Amino acid sequence: MPRRVLVTGGAGFIGSHLCERLLGQGHEVLCVDNFYSSSRVNVEHLIAHPRFELMRHDVTFPLYVEVDEIYHLACPASPIHYQRDPVQTTKTSVHGSINMLGLAKRTKARILLASTSEVYGDPTIHPQSEDYWGNVNPIGPRSCYDEGKRCAETLFMDYRRQHGMDTKIVRIFNTYGPRMAPDDGRVVSNFIMQALAGEPLTMYGSGQQTRSFCYVDDLVDGLLAMMNTPPDVSGPVNLGNPEEVTMQQLAAKVAEIVGVDASIVHEPLPTDDPMQRMPDATLAGRLLGWSAQVPLDKGLEQTVNWFQKQYGNNMAGSP
Ligand code: NAD
Ligand code: UDP
Repeated sequence: MPRRVLVTGGAGFIGSHLCERLLGQGHEVLCVDNFYSSSRVNVEHLIAHPRFELMRHDVTFPLYVEVDEIYHLACPASPIHYQRDPVQTTKTSVHGSINMLGLAKRTKARILLASTSEVYGDPTIHPQSEDYWGNVNPIGPRSCYDEGKRCAETLFMDYRRQHGMDTKIVRIFNTYGPRMAPDDGRVVSNFIMQALAGEPLTMYGSGQQTRSFCYVDDLVDGLLAMMNTPPDVSGPVNLGNPEEVTMQQLAAKVAEIVGVDASIVHEPLPTDDPMQRMPDATLAGRLLGWSAQVPLDKGLEQTVNWFQKQYGNNMAGSP
């Protein structure tokens, strides 16, 4: 049945794909964004759609609309963006979640939080399953994001317990694909932009640290599946692709797909950069029947093609 769906952060990388999919399913979509780490360009192609509405709004302020479902994605996600104004990042996670939970409470809407694998911090167990409480520095440069999301998770569980609401939490692991911002400093976009420009790839630290990258189409499937679970399913549920690679391996893959013999330039490892990260995605399989389907090589190829089309002819000034 068609629903009125609010996507906060809907003009962002993941949000724009989610809006597209929801429209494709026949829903009405209200995309709310303050364009802190994105621009209208990501949803430009949706603006004329009769069931799509774009509203500029900062979720740290209350929002009065009528909706049936809320995907709460608003929050800068890349270290460069979330560290630019760390106080605003914490406010977005905490005040933003309180406002969206208040809205869900009034409208009796189901609400889903896009949390993050960063709640596990620099994990001491591997792979990370949902029952691991994490190893997070509460006072470092990443804390505004990690602790902000941890507090948002607390709020989602407390609104459920205290007000009997249908709240859901997913913990998203590194996601990549078309519409990643070219200048947001994330490793996939950096390596692709650098390789396309024929520049050396910037490797932070030794490059032995690992991540597990999930293609955005898979991730959106997981978000939709989680939203459609019965009210007693709260999560948190990990959403990620358990195909773990070192940053050295990732650099080699990107260079091969772009077809360049890229050199590597080493730069210092950022403070509190996690050494390893890989989801235990068993719970998502059991609860949602979901698992990532797109292998890293294929997803990277599609992402490189998109970057090539967007930026291929104008590579000066890549990150
Ligand atoms: P993104 O930066 O592209 O999208 C976030 C969107 O939120 C942007 O459009 C931004 O302008 C908007 N926003 C930020 N603060 C806001 C505010 N106060 N009010 C309204 N809008 C605001 O990032 P993304 O990768 O699409 O991430 C989307 C969500 O998924 C985030 O909540 C992020 O924490 C989570 N997540 C993403 C990843 C990933 O690898 N991409 C991993 C884990 C979690
Ligand atoms: N990284 C890198 N070169 C870059 C950008 C990032 O080696 O140009 C590393 C970074 O230090 C981290 C990994 O790649 O170990 C993933 O970084 P990203 O910012 O994409 O995600 P996060 O650290 O938030 O998982």
